[in-house]
Amino acid sequence: MTNDPGPARGHEVLIKGVEKRYGKAPALAGVDLEIGAGRFVVLLGPSGSGKSTLARCLAGIERIDGGTVCLAGALVDDGRRHLPPDRRNLAMVFQDYALWPHLNVAGNVGYALRRRKLPGREVDRRVAEALQRMGLSALQKRYPHELSGGEQQRVSLARAVVGQPGLLLFDEPLSNLDADLRERLRVEIATMTRESGATAVYITHDQSEAFALADEIVILAEGRIVQAGAPEEIYHRPVNPFVARFTGVAGELAGTVRDVDGDTVGVDVAGVRLSARPGDALTPGDRAHVLIRPAATSLHDSWPGPSGSLAGTVIDVAYRGRGYDHVIDCAGGTLAAVFSPTRRSRGSAVSVRIDATGCSAYRTGSNFSTNGHPGELTPVRLTA
Ligand code: ADP
Repeated sequence: MTNDPGPARGHEVLIKGVEKRYGKAPALAGVDLEIGAGRFVVLLGPSGSGKSTLARCLAGIERIDGGTVCLAGALVDDGRRHLPPDRRNLAMVFQDYALWPHLNVAGNVGYALRRRKLPGREVDRRVAEALQRMGLSALQKRYPHELSGGEQQRVSLARAVVGQPGLLLFDEPLSNLDADLRERLRVEIATMTRESGATAVYITHDQSEAFALADEIVILAEGRIVQAGAPEEIYHRPVNPFVARFTGVAGELAGTVRDVDGDTVGVDVAGVRLSARPGDALTPGDRAHVLIRPAATSLHDSWPGPSGSLAGTVIDVAYRGRGYDHVIDCAGGTLAAVFSPTRRSRGSAVSVRIDATGCSAYRTGSNFSTNGHPGELTPVRLTA
């Protein structure tokens, strides 16, 4: 890795058996992950699951306690040898922007290029280009305290890409911003990163942000990878109830397995047979819960409704602009976020149709209520 790598080609990232402890507590408990060059990977998990620690280990801000990290084919950390952050050809974007308060916008964006001792004219050219790209040209003389949060985050994005790094690390970059700005900046991050060619690792605890941005999603819990794959894979085939819940369910209905046929299981919920994908090995007679994605529900007035429908009563309704989200009390449990373009008032008797493609069934038992990791985990490859 040279000081000025020129036009970016994304780093391949290879993480093998990475461990990190703070005192005795493991923050990373053996992480294996391979990311192909130029891929956009989102690390998703609850607070304390190890997302920031993993990003900081990639950046070289933290030293690892075990395993190896390779970037672009070069070993950068094996617990003994450790390449410092400024020699890894990467850039980080943080939640709190982390701009130099004593430098104006142009100074902040050009700082790393000047440290690389690039010719002044080249620095100016690249800075002007990055500022224009991020719509910041008119603000280049301002200091960070003279900018809004959104403008500061744009500056830190311009600063990150101007050096054409092979790896971009984002640590919850949108968390401090208002909803509409968050949406706009999310699109800019996606566009800018993909145009740059850099590999991206993006941390969030917000599942909608993860699904919107990612080529691949990596779900972490308690310092381990629980599941990794394309957004569609995570959405349709969550490996356990923890992943399903963390990525959004309308509800969980209790029932008894009636029949199993390869990739489909029939679960009797209050006398109605719901079709689902078996998330566990299930056999007829097992007690099971069917976890249902919001998009798999639809609301109908009459009972009995279409086949695979459950009878229920509306207990809450919320206006969502395009229509209404209903909370429905059904015989097997409660379903939330049941969308309909028309409003049903509280107390209405309705039927809810459940589409099998958004349902996973898990055995009711010990693994069901924990964040349990699925048995032995194999190393995860995230290559195109
Ligand atoms: P996340 O980013 O998913 O919220 P973190 O990587 O920040 O999770 O933290 C993982 C675990 O490591 C947590 O239990 C956290 O308390 C602990 N941890 C993180 N940084 C430190 C630190 N500097 N000192 C001690 N414990 C830490």
